[in-house]
Amino acid sequence: MKKLILIALVIALGGWPAYAQHTRKPNVIVIVSDDAGYADFGCYGGKEIPTPHVDDLAKNGTLFTDAYVSASVCAPSRAGILTGMYQQRFGFEHNISELPVQPYTHEDVGMDVKIKTIGNQMQHNGYKTIAIGKWHQGDLPQYFPTKRGFDEFYGFVGGHRNFFGYKDGKAPSDILALYDNDKIIPEKEIGYLTDMFTDKAISFVKKNKEKPFFMYLAYNAVHVPMNAKKELMDRFAHITDPGRKAYAAMMVSMDDGIGNLVKTLKEQNLYENTLIVFINDNGAATGNYSDNGKLRGLKGSKWEGGIRVAYIMQYPNQIPAGKVYRNMVSALDIMPTAVGAANGKLIEGQVTDGKNLIPYLNNEIKKAPHQDLFWRRGIAAAVRSDNWKLIRSGNSNPVLLFNLKKDISETKNLAAKHPAKTKKLLNKLEAWEKTVDNPHWLSPYGDSNQIMKHRMEVIGREMEMKYP
Ligand code: CA
Repeated sequence: MKKLILIALVIALGGWPAYAQHTRKPNVIVIVSDDAGYADFGCYGGKEIPTPHVDDLAKNGTLFTDAYVSASVCAPSRAGILTGMYQQRFGFEHNISELPVQPYTHEDVGMDVKIKTIGNQMQHNGYKTIAIGKWHQGDLPQYFPTKRGFDEFYGFVGGHRNFFGYKDGKAPSDILALYDNDKIIPEKEIGYLTDMFTDKAISFVKKNKEKPFFMYLAYNAVHVPMNAKKELMDRFAHITDPGRKAYAAMMVSMDDGIGNLVKTLKEQNLYENTLIVFINDNGAATGNYSDNGKLRGLKGSKWEGGIRVAYIMQYPNQIPAGKVYRNMVSALDIMPTAVGAANGKLIEGQVTDGKNLIPYLNNEIKKAPHQDLFWRRGIAAAVRSDNWKLIRSGNSNPVLLFNLKKDISETKNLAAKHPAKTKKLLNKLEAWEKTVDNPHWLSPYGDSNQIMKHRMEVIGREMEMKYP
């Protein structure tokens, strides 16, 4: 009865649309960049490449300093983002390959179809969902986004492709073709991929402004190939290296896209009630001219430069603005945070390793969201526990132990000096490994690259490039 009176009163005062908007579930947009350097964003100290729109997300939201993805290469990292669980739990340890491990076959190479994605979770809570950009969760039709919790898909299924249309008018394979749901867009209609993904994101927002939506906007910028728009490259006369110049221009295309998307949210009156998450999927790659700054190592490694990434959450209604949060957080937190922002429920029967970060960012929960985080890809595994980090990479390499608070660049191996700490972390790592599955497929690179990458004497891009 009281409720009816309230509704009548609200309508009588002409306030219904505002009331509806206020109580409406927030929109959620997860933006992923690909292989960007930790130090290449202005808000992370970058000076060379302007990223004003990513910086604005940090200014109007919370920036994470000690933010980790769950893998240092694209596909397993994205599997973690998309599910909120350690992807090793369902055998997704390596990039997509043609090397299934018995009893698994070619058909099984992809994100296990029994696993629910963030798309499924948001659909379950009444959201309209779209995946835009790079997918990389399996090449076969059962793994396509439209089968995995997304109402719409606009992007490509593989790991990387040209940003411009392929010259002979056809993508080298269907997994590299640009899909609009189940239709392939002719290559001659492709202008510049980053812009096309932004345009799709904007048109989706405009079309769905009346109901809550979830968007997974996974740019393939700034992954190789180094395809940049010429007019943007011309802005970077001060950068002499042509590769770095192209990288800068590719970053700007993405940053401009993010700016245009935020502008659209403002124009549509959706800005205050939208959670935007920005995350980079793994550290700077060996071949894309990116810069990890002080962090040691690159994509593919367990060094900080492989797994620590740029990560920001902006949600004017609920997340503090201009805050820097220094506790360890994970990409696995994105899914539960999205569901938490929606005041929604998780689908029952699936483990979640991430946490809803909103109460932590609001200081409702004072302790850190994670005591330990774990990584494993083949022979190389790692754990971070508070400020201590341990890397284990086979029997031929020594175990490495670092104190990240004192040595963020991982230059001093303290394993011999702190044997008890080393043992404790090794035990934690082994206990975690018992909770996950063996890989369902392998990497064509094998173990040798991983072993070489994690030697103290192998340092710097030039040396790591030999062990991709
Ligand atoms: Ca990547």
